[in-house]
Amino acid sequence: MTKIKELSLRQQIIDAACAMHIDGLTVANSGNVSARSERGLLITPSGVAYESLTPESLVELNLSGEKLSGQLQASSEWHFHCAIYREKTDVAAIVHAHSPAATALSCLRKPLPAFHYMVALAGGYEIPCADYATFGTEELSHSVLSALKGYKACLMANHGMTVTGANIDGAYKLALEVESLCEMYHKAAVLGDVVLLSDKEMQEAADAFVVYGRAVKKGPNKA
Ligand SMILES: [Zn+2]
Repeated sequence: MTKIKELSLRQQIIDAACAMHIDGLTVANSGNVSARSERGLLITPSGVAYESLTPESLVELNLSGEKLSGQLQASSEWHFHCAIYREKTDVAAIVHAHSPAATALSCLRKPLPAFHYMVALAGGYEIPCADYATFGTEELSHSVLSALKGYKACLMANHGMTVTGANIDGAYKLALEVESLCEMYHKAAVLGDVVLLSDKEMQEAADAFVVYGRAVKKGPNKA
């Protein structure tokens, strides 16, 4: 990775972290953002206001969690960031947030069910919920990794959500979707018994996303 590319990656991490405030994904400095780097990963530091982050304040770790560069302490949740990059080679960015709707729902310790076809964006017919474990522990890392098996996003019991992506933009947008879906589900559940989509309907939605994705990449049909 060239110096310019790495600087741009560092800036994208900071921009995503700052955007979490604006978009209501965090109130103070909870949560964190990371991206895969050439030697491991770059992650936001612990205990620093996102607004005061500079590219140099990010911490670079190898995938075993050893610090490679940076003056500050890596976010306390570095365990599961490292584990995800080790296990899921297609993941290049991670957003972890204690966003209100996802966190509220995570306290039910149940997956977000197939109440809306957009749930399929996370890779399956529901968005799973990782088992509870103390923050910053190996145990939490195991439960997050196990929940993310086959999925791009998960809730984390009594904690929040973790979302992965092929780049920061993708992970960030999916985090916004997950938060919005949790909010919608909450509203629907308050109104009455939520009717869920069947596996067949969810599969049709997932298939349609693939076709739609191709169509978007190709651009509008001029014929
Ligand atoms: Zn957390």
